[in-house]
Formats: sequence, structure tokens, C-alpha cells
Amino acid sequence: MNNIIEETKFIMKKYNIKASKSLGQNFLINEEVVNKIVECSEITKEDLVIEIGPGLGTLTKELLERAGKVICIELDNKMIQILKERFSLYNNFELINNDVLKVDLQKLIKNEKQTGKIKNAKVVANLPYYITTPIIMKLLENKLDLNSITVMIQREVADRLIAIPGKKNTGAITYSVYYYANSEEILEVPNSSFIPEPEVTSKVIKLTIRKEKIVNPIDVNKMFNVIKSAFMQKRKTLINSLNNNGILKNKEQGIELLKTLNINENVRPEELGIEEFAKISDKL
Ligand code: SAM
Repeated sequence: MNNIIEETKFIMKKYNIKASKSLGQNFLINEEVVNKIVECSEITKEDLVIEIGPGLGTLTKELLERAGKVICIELDNKMIQILKERFSLYNNFELINNDVLKVDLQKLIKNEKQTGKIKNAKVVANLPYYITTPIIMKLLENKLDLNSITVMIQREVADRLIAIPGKKNTGAITYSVYYYANSEEILEVPNSSFIPEPEVTSKVIKLTIRKEKIVNPIDVNKMFNVIKSAFMQKRKTLINSLNNNGILKNKEQGIELLKTLNINENVRPEELGIEEFAKISDKL
């Protein structure tokens, strides 16, 4: 069956599937988008692909043709049955029935690399939107041996994640993503590309994990703590936010500190780059 819409409807009918809103189930039915995701992930036979939330298996099918191995992590039992039946003939297919946030990805990647056949690990997913941020943060912060993360997510979240620190559209999470990865927008995806249609527009983004650190603060956790505190009250100046959140002893300490770094004392957090936050954190 070639037509992706027909195929999706056929599988949903056969297994009596009603998409679960609470599990963020919006199944992709746009062939061009599927091709674009797979293409920009640059998958080879030396790659392990971890697919989060494979659902009915639309992306999975294409990933299995290209990757050395595909490990799918899916929470919904109903999808597990479908995926098992659909892909039982592929010997590079593995399925984990669990919440992705509970899976030890580090161990998973290590085990696959030990086989010698796998050189790189890549994440490819049309993510469940209700847990986009925790998933992305887990992938970035757990120091996984990953090359890239290609994901479809809600447009507004995508714009925030791939913004450049110091420019428009930033939040604390922008700095985290920028610290760990080089990000790019792949394409915008209209609501009509899914069954059922989500209420929001989507975007595919690719995060390529940095091999070299872009800043080297004395204490990375401290730097991120400063950034989070700075962005808690976005309309305030940096000094007011840091003072209100207990990072500074008092405003005078902040004024003094910014002076030594040649930064205007009325600066707002979103005007600062990650290098400046690293310097502020080092001086605190
Ligand atoms: N990949 C499919 C596609 O593109 O058509 C389905 C994508 S759908 C947006 C998200 C998928 O994530 C659903 O299959 C859902 O059951 C699954 N999911 C939801 N929460 C999950 C979790 N915590 N861990 C793993 N999978 C989850």
C-alpha cells in the first residue's frame, strides 16, 4: 500500500485505534514530511536510531530501511501490538514498551556500540507534545553518546529551542540547547499533515550535538541556575531577577559585578549571550 493516508486509516480501522489525546497521538500522514525527516537525519547502516513514540510505525518503516538498528520506545500497549506485527520480519528492529523518561538511554546506546556494528546514535521522532521539553532536556543533559536529535515538535517550542542566545525569542531553555547542540530548522508542518489534526502548527528541527564546548564555566550547573533565575521574571532587569531569586546578596553586588564585566547595569537577561552568563556565574 503506497498511499500513507490510506495506510494509516487502514491500520487504525483494523486495530480499532482511536488516537489518544492524553498520549499526544497525532499520526503523520504527509509523505513529503516523512521523507524530509528521514533525509535530514542522514541515517546510515552504521547508525542506531532511537525512535521515541513510533505510534503506528509510519516513520519507523523508513528508518528500518536505512539504519543499522532501530530501537523504538512506545508507551501505548495498543501501538506495541501493531508495531510487532508490522515489523516482525526486520532483524534490525527492537521495541521497548515503556515511558521514554524512564528508559536508561545511556546503557542502551553503550550496549549497541559494544557490538561493533554501530558507530553513531541518533534520535528521530515525532514527539508527543505534552512532554516535549522533559524529553529534549533528558536527551541533552544525560550526557548521552548521541550525534543528533531530529524531532517534530510544536512550532512555538521549536522557535524557542533554536533561538540564538542574546537575540529574539529566547528563554532559559534556549541557552541549554545552545550549550549542548547546534540547532537548525528543517521545515514547518501544517496541521493537516496529521490524523487527527493537532491544534497547533508543528516544526521539524535538528539538533547536532556539539563535540567541543562553546563555553567553559567553572561550574556548569551554577551557570544554568543563574540563567534559570534570570529568566524567571522576564520583564525585569537581570539584577532585579537575580536579586529577587536569591542569587545576589543585594542589588549593589549585582551592579558591582556587571561593572567589572563592562555590562550595563540595566541589562535584561534576554540581551545576554551564553559567554556573558558564564562570566557572571564564574564571578559569583
Ligand atoms: N511516530 C508516530 C507518527 O509520526 O505518526 C506517532 C507520533 S505521536 C505524535 C506520539 C507518540 O508517542 C504516540 O504513539 C504516543 O503513544 C507516544 N508516547 C506518548 N507518551 C510517551 C512516552 N512517555 N514514552 C514513549 N512514547 C510515548
